[in-house]
Amino acid sequence: MAEQYGTHNYHPLPVNAVRGEGALLWDGEGNEYIDCIGAYSAVAHGHLNPAIVGAITEQLARIAVTSRAMHCTELGLFLKGLCEYTGLDMACPMNTGAEAVETCIKIARKWAYTVKGVPIDQAEIIACQDNFHGRTTTIVGFSTEEGYRHNFGPYTPGFKVIPFGDAQALRDVITPNTAAFLVEPIQAEGGIIIPPVGWMNEVRQICTENNVLLIWDEVQTGFCRTGARFAWNHEDAKPDLMSVGKPLGGGILPVSAAVGIRSVMEVLKPGEHGSTFGGAPISCAVGLMAMAEMEKEDYAGKSARLGAKLIEGIKSINSPHITEVRGKGLLVGMELGESVDSAKLSRAFLSRGILTKETRQRTFRFTPPLVIAETMIDTILERTEDAIRSVTA
Ligand SMILES: *Cc1c(COP(=O)(O)O)cnc(C)c1O
Repeated sequence: MAEQYGTHNYHPLPVNAVRGEGALLWDGEGNEYIDCIGAYSAVAHGHLNPAIVGAITEQLARIAVTSRAMHCTELGLFLKGLCEYTGLDMACPMNTGAEAVETCIKIARKWAYTVKGVPIDQAEIIACQDNFHGRTTTIVGFSTEEGYRHNFGPYTPGFKVIPFGDAQALRDVITPNTAAFLVEPIQAEGGIIIPPVGWMNEVRQICTENNVLLIWDEVQTGFCRTGARFAWNHEDAKPDLMSVGKPLGGGILPVSAAVGIRSVMEVLKPGEHGSTFGGAPISCAVGLMAMAEMEKEDYAGKSARLGAKLIEGIKSINSPHITEVRGKGLLVGMELGESVDSAKLSRAFLSRGILTKETRQRTFRFTPPLVIAETMIDTILERTEDAIRSVTA
């Protein structure tokens, strides 16, 4: 039915997920899988985390959706919690990651015109090659992935693209009209690309020196995925604006936000931006509990420790077919050589109860829920070794 009645914009694994609990999923035939996709890092709390389910259930006894046409108690509590958690001052609640990024783009442009003094409609935003910031028409316009952008033009003007992880390229491209540098601190969808050590810090300095806003897109790397609250915490490279999403919804609802410093966020005035569902009481209750759980259960520490174990474990698999293992915390990619038939390997993983999918560049992703048990990391390693052996023997 999905094939017949749905657009064909995805190519899913041949698995029908009917139930999930923690880091595990089951299909309709009762087969059990370790979920190493974790809904592209959105399911950090595990499937149907009892604390999140509890927050939703409790909230459903009161009110779920109000729209921003009126006040609701949960919104203030959520925004305060989000600002305290991120160390930033103000936030604009949205639903999806792409909306959070779009919100950052709008705020940055308005800041450029009203604060920096860029001539109207001349603001430039710099992005990076192999970026992934979502699927809206503006965002795909500055994607460098043909599949994401081709045939969807004409593209929104005002974006420039430079190589990722290259501080000098950023220096060279900045002009007096540059509003912002929009970039992921670690490129997740681009193949788990870790920038050189010190780059985040350097980027922060360059932006400050040139009165350019630094926008970290932490939709996927944020909320403990890389072993720190945010990936920029690894270098203390605090942004002016940041997009967050995915795990903020506790693995159940879409909850996102643009978060930033007061002098930038306050450029938005009533009527200039909005979202019908953004900041709904139910989303706020979930977001608040999601952050509380991350703190209470030390997701950052867990992610750092288990991620290091997973990365070391894959590195020590003695196979010439693994060309590189990249990762930070539980954001891990295993790149394989041309000698491996990746469609075959994908099936081998599946038949061994591991759900994983390739990102670009022949890289298999391991982004399990952060609540995963340490013993399950051992299981992933055993099955990965076995799966690779089975297709390369
Ligand atoms: C997933 C992702 C997005 C888009 O989020 P959606 O909720 O799918 O719109 C944006 N930025 C990054 C870095 C992402 O990984």
